[in-house]
Amino acid sequence: MASAAATSGSISSHSLISRDARAALIGSVRHLEASIVPSTLNCPSRRRWAVKPLHAVEPTRRNDSVAPLAAAPATMAEAVAEEKGRGREEEEEKVDYDQLARELENASPLEIMDKALEKFGDDIAIAFSGAEDVALIEYARLTGRPFRVFSLDTGRLNPETYRFFDAVEKHYGIHIEYMFPDAVEVQALVRSKGLFSFYEDGHQECCRVRKVRPLRRALKGLRAWITGQRKDQSPGTRAQIPVVQVDPSFEGIDGGIGSLIKWNPVANVEGKDIWDFIRTMDVPVNSLHSQGYVSIGCEPCTRPVLPGQHEREGRWWWEDAKAKECGLHKGNVAQEAAQKLGTNGNGAAAVNSVHGIPDIFETQAIVNLSRPGIDNLLRLENRREPWLVVLYAPWCRFCQGMEASYVELAEKLSGTGIKVGKFRADGDQKTFAQQQLQLGSFPTILFFPKHASRPIKYPSERRDVDSLLAFINALR
Ligand code: SF4
Repeated sequence: MASAAATSGSISSHSLISRDARAALIGSVRHLEASIVPSTLNCPSRRRWAVKPLHAVEPTRRNDSVAPLAAAPATMAEAVAEEKGRGREEEEEKVDYDQLARELENASPLEIMDKALEKFGDDIAIAFSGAEDVALIEYARLTGRPFRVFSLDTGRLNPETYRFFDAVEKHYGIHIEYMFPDAVEVQALVRSKGLFSFYEDGHQECCRVRKVRPLRRALKGLRAWITGQRKDQSPGTRAQIPVVQVDPSFEGIDGGIGSLIKWNPVANVEGKDIWDFIRTMDVPVNSLHSQGYVSIGCEPCTRPVLPGQHEREGRWWWEDAKAKECGLHKGNVAQEAAQKLGTNGNGAAAVNSVHGIPDIFETQAIVNLSRPGIDNLLRLENRREPWLVVLYAPWCRFCQGMEASYVELAEKLSGTGIKVGKFRADGDQKTFAQQQLQLGSFPTILFFPKHASRPIKYPSERRDVDSLLAFINALR
């Protein structure tokens, strides 16, 4: 991996001083406590020299792979370094990361970043996706410590993202350490299933080949990594992330569970505060953001969102909201599964009892259909009246988002001869709903016409009253 270069001609010491001064004015960036302030922070002119290339022996050579740090030492210096590493591991074993996470829960991102870089040095790297997580690089720069940045080039990114990578490299004087998917695996996937198989059978397989495995390779050369995960990015899967944790999914260079530490310095920061920070510090941004993109990933799987839409609605929009993790942070989903937010068993009910999530669409104008009720509706070829039914899960943010309009619609239709119902289709009803009721993601809205056996699926994501009424009027 390459490193941050201290002597970037594009960053003058004057601009460093003024930008650092502005950092102190931002709410999410607090002054460092004296005990953790790197000495270089107090002297901007010295700090530029403190950020030295990590591979000082060959400063001009890019190292495009994660260094195999476990190789046998060839020199006395390497043997000493290895010995130091062993000492560090022993010290590391004593760290209680749950406790550390509690201690750092109210720390600023800059403090957390500084702690992470101080602790792991060259064995830690920032995972950079090409979106607003560029803020992590700025925080790293502000610590004055050397840092490494890696990114997963899936081969499916937007051109704007590649240009952004280049702009970031130039701005910070760094080489991003790109990780690429295995060419043979990509070839096998594309030859057997085509270029867009993820629209047909889900994004997991493609993400596994293009993202997860390259990430696994990258992390096997590290002892810790730094992510831009935030709690507010995905209420379903990221609400519980701590600022530091033992990585629940991946292994580091020493191998085995517990061999990798995951730092999430902006876990507690809200998206708007990240953007205030980026703007104030004149950090380069991906031009896709100005086109309505919030969360940025691969081109075929990312789209702009409208004002008010949650950013994760712009990713894998054809799939369940709760499954919107590409595998890079699958521990979040695993944790969720542990809480039985899963696709089988009586999971959702358990979650409700754990988190006290109330049921939704609660009005007399909406009929709460049980499994026998919806079975009957499916079997009838001649219904006395048409039905509109939403397949939902009460924990689903998108279902919650349409609750007001669906209730209003039901009340409007009351007495018109059109019945409005709801069927809770998560937990142990999910497979049935997928096979018999065309459930793809929550919410799915079905219209059961009066004289037809098969329900018709509402094809749009516009769930306002007028759009739903237009759908009903076109079919009744
Ligand atoms: S985000 Fe889409 S294109 Fe990118 S790796 Fe995942 S499924 Fe493939």
